[in-house]
This record gives sequence, C-alpha cells and structure tokens, in this order.
Amino acid sequence: MSRRTEPEALAYLQRVKASYQNFIKINYEGAAKDCKTCPAAGVCCTDEHFVNVQVTRLEAVAIRETLKRTPRLTEAERRAVYGRARETVERYGLRVAGDTFAQTYACPLFETGVGCLVHRRAKPAPCIQHACYEHWEDLPPVRLQARTEHRIERLNHEVYANAWAWLPIPLWLCLVDPESDGRELERLAREWSLRPKKGGSNDAHHAQKSAAHRWPNLPRIKQSFPQNFPQAHQR
Ligand code: SF4
Ligand code: SF4
Repeated sequence: MSRRTEPEALAYLQRVKASYQNFIKINYEGAAKDCKTCPAAGVCCTDEHFVNVQVTRLEAVAIRETLKRTPRLTEAERRAVYGRARETVERYGLRVAGDTFAQTYACPLFETGVGCLVHRRAKPAPCIQHACYEHWEDLPPVRLQARTEHRIERLNHEVYANAWAWLPIPLWLCLVDPESDGRELERLAREWSLRPKKGGSNDAHHAQKSAAHRWPNLPRIKQSFPQNFPQAHQR
C-alpha cells in the first residue's frame, strides 16, 4: 500500500468529505426535513441514548485542526469542547475495548445556538449521511456512506498502518487533545500496531453489525416524529 504523510492525507480526506457532502446535499437533502424548522433541533446529536458515531484517528486529527482554526471559538470555548469530551467519556463510561459501537453518548461537538462545530470541514460520514425523511425511498443509499468510510479506512492505513481504530468521538477528542501529553495515544498506537492487519474495511463493520442494527454506525434518535418517520441519521 502506498504511504502518505498526515498532512497529505488530511487534505485528501477533506476533499473526500466535501465531495460526499455536496453529493448528498444536491441529490438527497431536498427531500429531507429542514433542520432549521425542526422542533427538536440538535436532538440527533445530543440524545445520549442513541448517538454512537465513531471516527478514525485521521478524522480525529481533522476535527482537532478544525477546532483549532475555527474563528467562531475563543480559546476558552475551544478548551470547553475538550472538557465536554472528557466529561462525556466519564459520564457514559466510554472505552476503547469491546463493542465500541454499542456505546452511546451526547456529542460534545454540538454547540447550542451553533450546531455541529465541525460541520463544514470535518463532519463524520454518518453525520453527513443523516437527515430526517418522510419517505424511505428518499433516503441516500447506505452504500454511499460505506464507500466513503472505506476510503477513510484506506487513508488511515496509508498514514498509520495498523495504529488506528474506530472509536467514539469523545474518546478520540481526549486522545488528540493538544494539551494531553500524548502518552495514552502512543500506548494505544503500539497496541493497535500489534494486531493482525485489519481486513475488510467499513463494509465488514456493517456486515458484522447489521444483524443487530438496521443502521450500523448511525446514531439514532428518539423524538416525537410520526411513527415510521424515516431517518438516515445525523446532522
Ligand atoms: S436531522 Fe432531523 S432531528 Fe436532527 S435537526 Fe435535522 S430535522 Fe431535526
Ligand atoms: S453532526 Fe455528528 S459530529 Fe457534529 S455534533 Fe452532531 S453527532 Fe457530533
């Protein structure tokens, strides 16, 4: 497999995400419920019982860089995001081992009055895919997300070899926090490096999980929409 530096991979990752986001916007979002008029705006990001979005190491770095550069955050507000991430890890007992997709949490990247802090430059794939639709046939096909996440996995391999993993967003925020000493990430990277080469990609994740979940890796929401109101998850 070819190798890329982290900055090269971050630039490519952003192009992959932008292209996916534009494609969803142009081809599917027109049929989705307008988030601006949603009576439960943000619940899809903050429902602690349902959000289970996971990202990779490279995406975590992209999120960190986005938070660093966004002019809408003061330094205190930026630190508050990492503080929320730590509290979230504690509150929901998020762990790097076991069935990490079974862990749910309220996303620390959601800011009341602003929305998703990484919406434009580092939004996770399931968050890009998600919206609330009235008709199932209007939902974007799951294969679009699977294809994007497969590309993301390949990029991680190109930069870190096996030293990365899919983990809940709050855990990754703690690991890449600019004020952390980096030792926990180093320890985990050593551990991950010793695993056999990760096979399959995201499709394997989906196949493994689909027996138990209709929408693997998609945070789900509980709210007062009509019964059977279709959601492809996350804003
Ligand atoms: S994705 Fe759905 S639940 Fe979330 S803000 Fe938009 S309309 Fe509301
Ligand atoms: S869109 Fe995704 S990353 Fe952004 S706040 Fe919501 S759950 Fe978090």
